[in-house]
Amino acid sequence: MKLEGGCACGAVRFVAEGTPWRVGLCHCMTCRKLGGSVFNAFAIYPRAAVRMTGTTAIWRSSERGRQHFCPACGGQVFALDAGGDEAELPLGAFDEPDRFRPTYEGFVGRRESWLPPLPGVRQYAGNREGPGRTEPGTTE
Ligand SMILES: [Zn+2]
Ligand SMILES: [Zn+2]
Repeated sequence: MKLEGGCACGAVRFVAEGTPWRVGLCHCMTCRKLGGSVFNAFAIYPRAAVRMTGTTAIWRSSERGRQHFCPACGGQVFALDAGGDEAELPLGAFDEPDRFRPTYEGFVGRRESWLPPLPGVRQYAGNREGPGRTEPGTTE
């Protein structure tokens, strides 16, 4: 599977190959503030499976590594973890909608009261705590 995406204005683009290690939602304050939305939905790929083009602005944070934005439109296009082997791509940045289904939610205590939990997915009080890179039901 090869999927493409990018920012709103098109100056920053990515191509992701293969299957993501995992797909999740995060309700933490950093994700909320970064996107200006009430949660972040994302796919985590091996860093080597994603190619990026275009110039980005970067915000470094201790918990999220490096967050790359388009300096022209402000769109979040990808984040690279501090260890360097994971690339986080926001689901909304993919060109085709509805390609992924989250299998876990993080920081559920921050979930908006009007927003129900996703049925049948793992709920974490904080960050995901799974062993390994994948969630049950996904393949590496
Ligand atoms: Zn842009
Ligand atoms: Zn978060």
